Amino acid sequence: MSNREIRDFIVQDYIKRFKAVLENGGKESLPDDEKELFEKFEKLGPDKFLSEMMKEITRDLREGDIKKKRLSFRRNMQIVFQDPMSSLNPRMTVGEIITEPILFHGIAKTKKEAYDMAGDLLKQVGLKVYHLDRYPHQFSGGQRQRIAIARAISINPRIVILDEPTSALDVSVQAQIINLFLDLQKSYNFTYLFISHDLGLVRFISEKVAVMYLGRIVEMGDTEEIFNNPIHPYTKALLSAVPIPDPKVERKRKRLILKGGVPSPINRPMGCFFHPRCPWAIEGKCDVQYPELIEVKENHYVACFLVEKS
Ligand code: SF4
Repeated sequence: MSNREIRDFIVQDYIKRFKAVLENGGKESLPDDEKELFEKFEKLGPDKFLSEMMKEITRDLREGDIKKKRLSFRRNMQIVFQDPMSSLNPRMTVGEIITEPILFHGIAKTKKEAYDMAGDLLKQVGLKVYHLDRYPHQFSGGQRQRIAIARAISINPRIVILDEPTSALDVSVQAQIINLFLDLQKSYNFTYLFISHDLGLVRFISEKVAVMYLGRIVEMGDTEEIFNNPIHPYTKALLSAVPIPDPKVERKRKRLILKGGVPSPINRPMGCFFHPRCPWAIEGKCDVQYPELIEVKENHYVACFLVEKS
């Protein structure tokens, strides 16, 4: 997506939602961080708002230091994608793939130095130095993901985003990759942002968990607290769907089955985004106002009208 497409998408999305807010209710249905923008929309009207926003975002994108900020952001934050086959360039050798960011960010001065570093990285992720000359299609899925991990950590980032990094792999390979993540974290001391639908894996790997629904965090806290004491109705429904590997307990497991499907993220419902599916929705409140995330206990945050601030 180009900068222009992103800009158009963001502005059009705001206009669509703000028009719906004007027609169906007040600005209480908006999250706090969007209320100021909505006031501007109300004041200017859709056409003028559109041209103002376009000008503002275009100016931001042209700002001289944005390029520098983007570079330092990329240096500190790397990502491992779900499918290593499509995230690795099939026309580049593993050596070229791993040395590219090292040379780009000036971590190595010469190609030889960068290749030496890439060889060390391959050994750390469980591959061999001679793999540097091979192409991605010559590896298995698990090995390809190891290459993607080596590329991500090659510039020593502070945060690594793991976007469903094991969902395309066999269960036995999944376990190896997760253990590799944990070992690398100990040696490099970076933070992981682990995105997954596999709640067992989330519980195993995370120290803190944030549950999202339609692009917003609905519950957040320490992992054991969220798994042992879920408060938001959506978190309760998610956790009730996790099978328990003990037939006796599993037979007694009560499921909270939600009605309906997930609405489109570009046309989210008014008020609490979850209200059309929530068994405890309060009419006249949940469909009108947006619940902000509040701290209900130390390090436990929930966005729901059923709970009160601690
Ligand atoms: S705010 Fe209302 S609709 Fe949303 S989760 Fe809580 S009870 Fe359900």
